[in-house]
Amino acid sequence: MYPLTTNLVEHIHQSHLIKRVELLARELQKAPSEAALIELLKKQEALLFFRVTLYNPIKGYFFDSKQEIDSPDFEEESQNTPAEITEALKDGYAYAVRYSLLFSEQMVYVALKFNFQENPYILRAGFPNGQIVALTHDLTGTFLIFVIGLLLLFSLFAWFIFHHLTKPVYAILNSIRPFQEGREEQIPEIIIDNQVSEFGQLASTLNALSNRVQYQIETLTHEKNEKSAILESLVEGVVAVDTSLVVIYMNRMAEIFLDVDQQNVVGKPFSKIGQPHCEELLKRAQIANEPVFSVMKLGRKARRFFDLVAVPSGAEGGAILVLQDKTSLHRVIEMGRDFVANASHELKTPITIISGFAETLHDHPELSAEISHEITQKILSNCVRMETLIRNLLTLATLDEGLPDSRLMQGDLIDIVEQAKQMTRSIHPHAHIAIEEIGDSPFTLRMDSALFLQAIFNLLDNAAKYSKPPADILVRVIKTEEAYLIHVIDHGIGIPEADLDRIFERFYAVDKSHSRMLGGSGLGLSIVEQIIEKHKGKIEVQSEVGEGTTFVISLPRV
Ligand code: ADP
Repeated sequence: MYPLTTNLVEHIHQSHLIKRVELLARELQKAPSEAALIELLKKQEALLFFRVTLYNPIKGYFFDSKQEIDSPDFEEESQNTPAEITEALKDGYAYAVRYSLLFSEQMVYVALKFNFQENPYILRAGFPNGQIVALTHDLTGTFLIFVIGLLLLFSLFAWFIFHHLTKPVYAILNSIRPFQEGREEQIPEIIIDNQVSEFGQLASTLNALSNRVQYQIETLTHEKNEKSAILESLVEGVVAVDTSLVVIYMNRMAEIFLDVDQQNVVGKPFSKIGQPHCEELLKRAQIANEPVFSVMKLGRKARRFFDLVAVPSGAEGGAILVLQDKTSLHRVIEMGRDFVANASHELKTPITIISGFAETLHDHPELSAEISHEITQKILSNCVRMETLIRNLLTLATLDEGLPDSRLMQGDLIDIVEQAKQMTRSIHPHAHIAIEEIGDSPFTLRMDSALFLQAIFNLLDNAAKYSKPPADILVRVIKTEEAYLIHVIDHGIGIPEADLDRIFERFYAVDKSHSRMLGGSGLGLSIVEQIIEKHKGKIEVQSEVGEGTTFVISLPRV
């Protein structure tokens, strides 16, 4: 703005000067003579300019308001006709800013050509440039102060408008920030003071929008939770992979089956699980775009068997692997196989003995009556053994089928124990069997008496068999509020701790040859356990080698 101001001041001053000179020239033209013209000029001098000069192309200078024309100074200055006069003579008008030797300062000159009495004259007006410069400075200063003031005012106004406009925007941003930074679960409500303003309307629109979004999020979360709860509650293992076989989901069961931690696997390639067979199956399902089935064995010691199915999932090209634990089924099959093998083996042994002895009798009719008797005795005892084995197998088969409620009748436990005692004593005449009752009579229970008798007999028989004669056995029957407890206590050889878990298995014997010698086949305790279970009870064993064994049966009274 500064050069503009300077130019403006100069321009105003110049045009002002020209106008005054023109006015003066017009006045001068009215003078009757040259002398009157000079007189007129002298009169005007004080009112007019700093310096007024009159010039005639023929006579040269013949009036100057500041100098005697005849003085040597003037003569020196007017040696050369100044440029403004020459220019005015040519063009009729001139304006110049130049240094004056006479005044020793910058001067502004305006020269104007006018005709007086048919002759051309130049009227030149001079003005010290210093005053114009000072005026310009004054004006610039004022202008500057004005501009600064205006700028301050504008800034203040702009700040006010800006603040007024941004305040609600900040209010909106501050409301949303806690949600954006994850400090809040829900999108908070935006509250603006002026509800009717545009920002108020914007806030209520955003609030309505966030409510909708919140609702959608809640619905989706609910659906997702429901689905994942279903998947998590499955007894099957489920693993989902994307097109590039990266694990995207794995349920709890899959974690257990595959022995991995979901957090270490999700988001990583399936190969990281280390189950190439499953990976292969997933690939096949993706390529074939149809379910693919297989089976798999896992684990070295506790072997587990799985049915696998890989299914392509949706249009994205992913796949889902489902693992079904079929270990128990495989165990049942295995057990069945073992059972048949064991049963055949147990039956084969007495048959071999019987046929051997029968052949001897047949081939040697000359044998003495004493030896023949001994042989037939052995044949008979093996027949009994076979019969017992077959009876036991039949009992187990019956028990496997289940015990119908119709077979249960009210019976007395003490009677059953007494009968079992008599049966045991008929086989082990030296055995001492005591019965102790704790609780008020009667000791009645709904039961299958025949089976129950067999269970108690098996225990007493074992107690007598596995004790050094004479066996000392105590049967303690306790009646409590909720249950009957039957303790069968002996002071026999005891059972090693390692075998305690297995003695209830079919055909299991701690010492096979010792058991067989005593007429056992390893089915006795499994029959006992089955019978007790069918009466909703359970059986436990405590034993110490060389000290004795205690079997505890507990039966609920209702
Ligand atoms: P078994 O016909 O061989 O006796 P059981 O099923 O009745 O078969 O018993 C399994 C095994 O448990 C027996 O071989 C024996 O080693 C052990 N056992 C059972 N009862 C006793 C006991 N009272 N004292 C010591 N060992 C016992």
